[in-house]
Amino acid sequence: LDNFKQVNDSLGHEAGDLVLQKVASALQESCREDDFVARLGGDEFLILLERGTKVSEVDRLINRIVGELSVPVTYNGQVCRFTASFGVASSRLQPENMLELLSFADVALYEAKRKGRGRTEHFTEELLGRVKQDRLTASQLAPAIERGELIPFLQPQIDAETRRLVGFEVLARWQHPRRGLLLPNAFLDVAEKLRLVPDVDRAIFEAAMGFADMVRQIGAPIPRLSFNVSAGRLRDPELAGCVSQLIERGVPVTLEVLESIAVEDEALLREFEIDVLREVGARIEIDDFGSGHASIVGVMALKPDGLKIDRRIVTPMLGDAQSERLVKAVVDIAKSLGIATVAEGVESLQHAKLLAELGVETLQGYAFARPMPIEEAVEFIARSAEFSQRHRST
Ligand code: C2E
Ligand code: CA
Ligand code: CA
Repeated sequence: LDNFKQVNDSLGHEAGDLVLQKVASALQESCREDDFVARLGGDEFLILLERGTKVSEVDRLINRIVGELSVPVTYNGQVCRFTASFGVASSRLQPENMLELLSFADVALYEAKRKGRGRTEHFTEELLGRVKQDRLTASQLAPAIERGELIPFLQPQIDAETRRLVGFEVLARWQHPRRGLLLPNAFLDVAEKLRLVPDVDRAIFEAAMGFADMVRQIGAPIPRLSFNVSAGRLRDPELAGCVSQLIERGVPVTLEVLESIAVEDEALLREFEIDVLREVGARIEIDDFGSGHASIVGVMALKPDGLKIDRRIVTPMLGDAQSERLVKAVVDIAKSLGIATVAEGVESLQHAKLLAELGVETLQGYAFARPMPIEEAVEFIARSAEFSQRHRST
């Protein structure tokens, strides 16, 4: 079911039970005698179809179920409507056993939900390929972290007024021995499933340590580094120690916390000991701000030092009045809270100009530079130090 939690939350558990009963009878009535119907738990149901069932029959069956479910349930005079998503897997793709067949259906279901709910997805060769790739990635990730294959790339952050370098965002890359340089979207999902994200974060932190020494060697001031931290990493008791080590080495540190983590729930926030991190000297920034979870209450609870405006509203801003208004609204919120703003996804100098006019302080994006390896970042610093020296002497 797609919005079962909503039914439970808004109309109560009795209404929820009524919905579950209705679904159960809809499934029972739509299926044939030899099909097997079960509830897996919560709002998930399973139908095991008789051997030899054709795809066209499956689609017809789903249509029948969808038809039954579209008749709303009335509870205490309240009409409640709900939809369902379907994931279908066939033994033709040769799962090793029944459990694997079930996991294939699960992958298809997840895909249906991801594509927008209220729809059906079949487990295909393509999804099978993805599952296999994920399994391979999963088996390689932990040893790769051990071997130091996870490395930081740095992307410059620029002052919107003076256009001077103010810092770098630190972004994880996997230097894979065969597949080459991998972006986070190739491994973070898998890392999440294996609960390895905090280990990735730690590896990136440690690798960034050497950067300060390299910058010091060229005699330039050490720029601020902004790290992405996962929820798990925020709970890691070692984090404060790592941060203070970096700060002791003279590196100013910002921690970027995803907006979705920041608003998830307050109890979680209290666990995070944000204050300890702040005491050792870290700035706290809300990442992907304006991406949709926006809750000012959640943000206030974190007392962030800055908001990082999501690139999904920054990049389309030129010629899109709605995105521009959204960016402006975020800047207004930040101003009224007395905190800084950073824009990411700044893809052109036109963006940069408009953002500066709107009052955004710091800019990051392809207009200035792409994420680069540490050695190149050191060169970038050397060049910009030269640049500002020249400016001062003329
Ligand atoms: P993010 O924190 O929103 O990072 C910004 C992403 O935007 C980066 O993608 C960066 O390469 C990309 N980007 C920078 N400038 C532009 C631009 O002008 N236009 C566009 N279209 N994109 C731009 P990347 O490196 O692929 O990272 C993706 C996400 O992975 C990050 O999103 C962050 O959430 C996560 N991530 C990266 N490194 C780490 C890490 O060490 N730990 C954790 N927990 N998450 C990480
Ligand atoms: Ca970020
Ligand atoms: Ca972001």
